[in-house]
Amino acid sequence: MTTFVIVGGGLAGAKAAEALRDQGFDGDIVLVTEEQDRPYERPPLSKDYLQGKAERDSAFVHGPNWYDENNVDLRLGVAATAIDRAAHQVRLADGSSVEYAKLLLATGSSPRQFPGAEDALYLRKIGDSERIKSVIANSSRLIVIGAGWIGLEVTAAARAAGVEVTVLEAAPQPLITAIGSEVAEVYADLHRANGVDLRLGVEVDQVGAKSVGLVDGTVVDADAVLVAIGAAPNVSLAKDAGLDVDNGVLVDASLRTSDPDIFAAGDIANAENPFLSKRVRVEHWANALNQPAVAATGMLGGSATYDELPYFYTDQYDLGMEYIGDIAGYDRVVFRGDKPGREFIAFWLKDNRVLAGMNVNIWDVVDPIKALIRSRKQVDPDRLANPDIPLEEQ
Ligand SMILES: Cc1cc2nc3c(=O)[nH]c(=O)nc-3n(C[C@H](O)[C@H](O)[C@H](O)COP(=O)(O)OP(=O)(O)OC[C@H]3O[C@@H](n4cnc5c(N)ncnc54)[C@H](O)[C@@H]3O)c2cc1C
Repeated sequence: MTTFVIVGGGLAGAKAAEALRDQGFDGDIVLVTEEQDRPYERPPLSKDYLQGKAERDSAFVHGPNWYDENNVDLRLGVAATAIDRAAHQVRLADGSSVEYAKLLLATGSSPRQFPGAEDALYLRKIGDSERIKSVIANSSRLIVIGAGWIGLEVTAAARAAGVEVTVLEAAPQPLITAIGSEVAEVYADLHRANGVDLRLGVEVDQVGAKSVGLVDGTVVDADAVLVAIGAAPNVSLAKDAGLDVDNGVLVDASLRTSDPDIFAAGDIANAENPFLSKRVRVEHWANALNQPAVAATGMLGGSATYDELPYFYTDQYDLGMEYIGDIAGYDRVVFRGDKPGREFIAFWLKDNRVLAGMNVNIWDVVDPIKALIRSRKQVDPDRLANPDIPLEEQ
């Protein structure tokens, strides 16, 4: 019997098992994951689940019986420790090994650690979210280091619970690398309007369990400290096995690594994107959801390529948004709608071609935004800014 092994039981790993069965694979599937819980989705961990608005069960990718019903050998609580490519074997932390005909790596990311901040909170796993939920319920002051998506979502959850939050960010604006300064100011205004002490351009020196020292000598105290300074792809397994690794595991557009029998998907995959004509490594839910079907096709000997645009969403207070595209190289931003009222679409343009769009509290527009990006056609910025002219007529 042919065995396919998947390492990493996050969204990408679980969806890969599903895609292999959907595409007719009837061999053995072994899904190895170091977490004790069956695969779950992470977005609720900083949003509804953290705020107590969603049940634990709603985070899981599949129901508890799905793995048995689909003949997927789910091995929880055991890490893969090495890949023996010559022997086509994955070694596990319990001393056993599994042979593979094809292997998919979906080991995801881990939070970047601030040196010496062992006593601070970090958020990646469901247990982290539960710990932070309890901290929010029992604290009156929280420090969040890092004004990225996760830091700001936790900030919004803490404010909703009445906790005073100080956000410490080294950059001059929140989210600046993700969305550029024109749109970042929307988030700065949003958090300040919701009572957050947002301190930008500050450099953190030392992090304790309940206080943070800044380089300028200021000490900020609180009941707890969350470090949310980004994530790094878990590539050690791939690297130790001699696969090509550079800001993630290097894969072609079919998600195949430098070893033809090994594929990678989700946060770790630094993939050639035919539409963008460059490599992209995307730490977003939609990527982990959709890449596995392409990897599964390749594992089964077919040919498919992944050329989706990066897509992302976030909810903070009463602001919900979706973002699609890649802003790299933009030369102007066009706003369409009510920016102060936080009901608008932002477009990032280069040479009047739409690179990316973000709809804020406006829904069902991702498809026309995507079509504009994919068309690569030049648009008239004034018409684009005019909400009376449909996106389909740009
Ligand atoms: C709090 C939070 C909120 C988020 N919110 C959003 C959002 O709103 N929108 C959005 O688009 N994205 C969001 N993301 C990002 C999104 O969750 C990730 O892009 C997605 O989880 C990536 O899935 P993955 O399967 O590649 O990796 P992961 O979900 O990280 O899963 C990888 C799994 O592999 C396991 N593993 C690692 N190494 C080994 C090993 N050697 N052996 C066995 N198992 C191993 C890990 O423990 C983990 O369980 C959020 C992320 C977090 C943490």
